[in-house]
Amino acid sequence: MNIFDPIEEWPIISPAYGKRLKKLGIERPRDLLFHFPVRYENFAAVKPIGELVAGETVTVQGTVRDISARVAWKNRRRFPIVEAYIEDGTGKVRAVWFNQSFMAETLEKAPEVLLSGKVQDRDGLFFSSPSYEVVREVGPIHTGRLVPVYPETAGVSSRWLRYVIEKILPLREQIEEPLPASLLKQEKLMGISEALTTIHFPSSLLKAKKARDRFVFEELLTVQLAALRARARLTKEQSPIVPTDIEATKAFIATLPFSLTDSQKKATWAILKDMEKPTPMNRLLEGDVGSGKTVVAAIVALNAVRAGYQVAFMAPTELLATQHYQSISKLFFGHNVEVTLLTRVKKDRDATFADVVVGTHALIQKKVNFSKLGLVVIDEQHRFGVAQRAHLLHAHHRPGRGPAKSGGGTPPHLLSMTATPIPRTLALTVYGDLDISLLREMPAGRKKIDTRLVAEKNRAEAFAFVRNELDAGRQAFVVFPLVEESEKLEAKAATQECERLAEGPFTQYSVGLLHGKMKPKEKDETMAAFKEKKIQVLVATSVVEVGIDVPNATVMMIENADRFGLAQLHQFRGRVGRSELQSYCFLFTDSTSSYARKRMKALISANDGFELAEYDLAFRGPGEIYGTRQSGMDDMIVSSLADRPLVEHTRAIAEDLLNADPELSNIPALAEKVARKQEAMHFE
Ligand code: ADP
Ligand code: MG
Repeated sequence: MNIFDPIEEWPIISPAYGKRLKKLGIERPRDLLFHFPVRYENFAAVKPIGELVAGETVTVQGTVRDISARVAWKNRRRFPIVEAYIEDGTGKVRAVWFNQSFMAETLEKAPEVLLSGKVQDRDGLFFSSPSYEVVREVGPIHTGRLVPVYPETAGVSSRWLRYVIEKILPLREQIEEPLPASLLKQEKLMGISEALTTIHFPSSLLKAKKARDRFVFEELLTVQLAALRARARLTKEQSPIVPTDIEATKAFIATLPFSLTDSQKKATWAILKDMEKPTPMNRLLEGDVGSGKTVVAAIVALNAVRAGYQVAFMAPTELLATQHYQSISKLFFGHNVEVTLLTRVKKDRDATFADVVVGTHALIQKKVNFSKLGLVVIDEQHRFGVAQRAHLLHAHHRPGRGPAKSGGGTPPHLLSMTATPIPRTLALTVYGDLDISLLREMPAGRKKIDTRLVAEKNRAEAFAFVRNELDAGRQAFVVFPLVEESEKLEAKAATQECERLAEGPFTQYSVGLLHGKMKPKEKDETMAAFKEKKIQVLVATSVVEVGIDVPNATVMMIENADRFGLAQLHQFRGRVGRSELQSYCFLFTDSTSSYARKRMKALISANDGFELAEYDLAFRGPGEIYGTRQSGMDDMIVSSLADRPLVEHTRAIAEDLLNADPELSNIPALAEKVARKQEAMHFE
């Protein structure tokens, strides 16, 4: 039997089970071996029945006596109960199984059984629905040891998994050791065969951990090798050379109404240097909301245009694309750069002759023809799904395969931008194929946004405060959570909320509405009116989350703030505080959960996305936040992404391995794993 064959071909797996296993991502018998437990039940202690004590978790072995089955009724539902006694010479103990009527028959056929569970006491000691098994010569699997509990799915229980994994374990020798022997020795890691046995059949929790450590190490190493190889591959490709036009750059910067921050200068310089190289740039510009990423993109775009290339500028939504079009047109005003906007509404525009083409990802997917594409800028790249992102990123880096082609067939340079802070561990793994530039500082003169949790009884006071700001010529946002089940309901709720505010606290002011169900044209009109101060209070659903730039807005009110994630709240807050004016963020919540309170507190004390990212990492774990779940990384590994020393250590080893053997040709099993990982993580 080959464990790499399709699982249906394995006689003990029925077609029905084959289908269910696919839901767990198990397609070959090999995958069963790598289906690791989430935890272990400690049933290792075996005791004589006479010595049982209430409250302890133990295993007993004995003869089955006095089996009885009856049916109770609970809430008008049948509720089968099976009861029996187990006797071992030192005493006997009662066991009860609920909702498992088959147990009566199972016990009838089993003279000698093992039971594991917690000893309970109600009119004498008993076990409630204990794990059980018939005594076998080879030793127990469901009782009497550290019993693995696996990720399950409907119709696939841990019990069944233990049964098949035991059957398949002897075939583990078909799996080649991907790690070199010297590395195993140096890192004191368990070999693959021992680790596979141990993780399913550990003799102690310490051993189980050692087995797990080995797999975590292997996975992190593989991810990093994949990222490093992807980088190396890019250096073999040709991209347009964009010489830096120092004079034009200086002249352009001189026309800006502000001077650049040091980090903006540094990032700009790094990007310009990248584009001077004949190989494709793949750089991520990371900077908190309001740190001024757009202008950096504009400067480098100008250089590409001066060198005779076109620039595609992509935003995740039409609203943002429109706004970018406006701000970029404004930045380039008088600089002889032709900027055009391509959206669903304006799709008839020809992109061939524009210098800078702004749009959504439709720019890539709709096969827009560029005559000489030299640079692609992807804004708010974290808003694109992982797969979509991969498509955006890599369509360009594979000549001939991407829909958007530059004139000569060479892949353009790529600049992605994000406001999501990326901890170093993720920069080395999930984002390991990218070069990263960071805008750590905010433009000078920005004040800390005054963030407060407003108690319901102080609501009127908060509204009065907002009116004061409006009277002083400022503007405000009111955001409240979307009803995710239906955009229609969301629109309705937003409309109602807007009316309530327009007739109530803001009756003297102009109130506008922005929600996801509006037509792009209506959204544009509303945004334009807000920018022109014709709208003073903008009521909005989460569509305002990213990128909207109205520096005159100084108040952000967030209703039911507990329903948003920290990163999202921080994004909302980033809509204000975009000028030298003091800004405010008022949070409302009726949640009393301590988790919600903690998050609000974190938002209040931390004004910086990086600090919040640390909180988020602690609260939710890396998987939730970075969507790494869909990125081809195992859950177990994702949780290890918080382990910075380990991530850095494996990075160093990955570099050493590639320095010694760039193609990993001496370690073919590892090379193959790396190639598969590269594909799974879209590092291509
Ligand atoms: P983000 O990084 O969130 O995309 P933007 O590029 O939208 O930020 O910039 C936010 C605001 O800050 C804009 O109004 C922009 O004109 C302004 N800005 C950018 N750089 C500076 C700077 N160095 N000094 C002052 N204001 C700046
Ligand atoms: Mg932006």
